[in-house]
Amino acid sequence: MQVYNEFDLTEYNSYRLKSKCKTAYFPENEDDVVELYKTEKSFILLGSGHNLILSKDYYDTDFIIFNGNFNKVDVVTNLNVITAEAGASILNVSEIAEENGLTGVEFYYDIPSSVGGAVVMNAGTKEGETKNILKKVRYLDLRDMLVKEKINEELEFEYRNSMFQKQKNKVILKVWFQLTRGNPLDIRKIMDESKERRWSKQPREYPNSGSVFKRPPGKFVGPMLDELGLKGYTIGGAQVSKKHSGFIVNINHATGSDILNLIKHIQHKVKERFNLNLEVEQRII
Ligand SMILES: Cc1cc2nc3c(=O)[nH]c(=O)nc-3n(C[C@H](O)[C@H](O)[C@H](O)COP(=O)(O)OP(=O)(O)OC[C@H]3O[C@@H](n4cnc5c(N)ncnc54)[C@H](O)[C@@H]3O)c2cc1C
Repeated sequence: MQVYNEFDLTEYNSYRLKSKCKTAYFPENEDDVVELYKTEKSFILLGSGHNLILSKDYYDTDFIIFNGNFNKVDVVTNLNVITAEAGASILNVSEIAEENGLTGVEFYYDIPSSVGGAVVMNAGTKEGETKNILKKVRYLDLRDMLVKEKINEELEFEYRNSMFQKQKNKVILKVWFQLTRGNPLDIRKIMDESKERRWSKQPREYPNSGSVFKRPPGKFVGPMLDELGLKGYTIGGAQVSKKHSGFIVNINHATGSDILNLIKHIQHKVKERFNLNLEVEQRII
């Protein structure tokens, strides 16, 4: 297991907010994860850092990071199942599915995420969401330090939500995805078309963490913000994207406070005009 002191988190959060933590641990396997938590220290857990707002520039709390480590992926060919450790990227899962002629997970191809983060957030696009393909999860329950498993129906999946957001004392270790057989050429076509469509709409040229707010029922956040004239609205280095108002982008050395202040401003304006409370999708740490 790699361990770093005074660890720079800038490359580990997709807003590229400058921040450091006292110590960062990169476990390689399930035993490493369990051993770390047995020390009874408190930790902040990061997946690939694509749904985070780091609100502080220094953390005394130690971090455990699943990004480029703890990332084994296996295929159980006769069952059309892929298993993946929590730190695997979902891009990798989608590519391994394609190589093996397994369909159902194409929508993962362009969502930047670890497997663990995708389950926590029930990550998805209009083509599908994690709850459609997840069969089983293995996790460490920090209350009794036991490794347990739960099936899909027990995970309280909702739009961008799961049991793991409500119960933060559980660490996802491994996931089983149930797929079906498909034609690799058709699978590749769906992946490429989805990526092209998304890149044409999303502000990929600036650091961001995807959609800032959950979509309120029957409404779209981007058009509401456009109507309020908030497209391009800037606080410090953080800006409501000029390409897609549902995103905040770091245009010039933004801090966590810049992003949080911009969020507050947007929420206030939306409440005033539409009488709606916009819920933040991103995790504020
Ligand atoms: C350009 C861009 C486009 C995006 N498009 C989409 C999209 O189309 N659909 C979508 O759903 N999302 C999208 N997102 C948001 C993001 O990709 C997802 O929310 C993703 O699932 C976050 O995963 P992560 O590994 O980066 O999690 P992180 O940001 O690292 O963590 C998110 C939360 O999960 C917790 N967590 C992470 N791993 C574990 C674990 N193993 N066990 C328990 N808790 C854990 C963390 O503690 C944190 O609270 C986009 C983001 C970007 C930057």
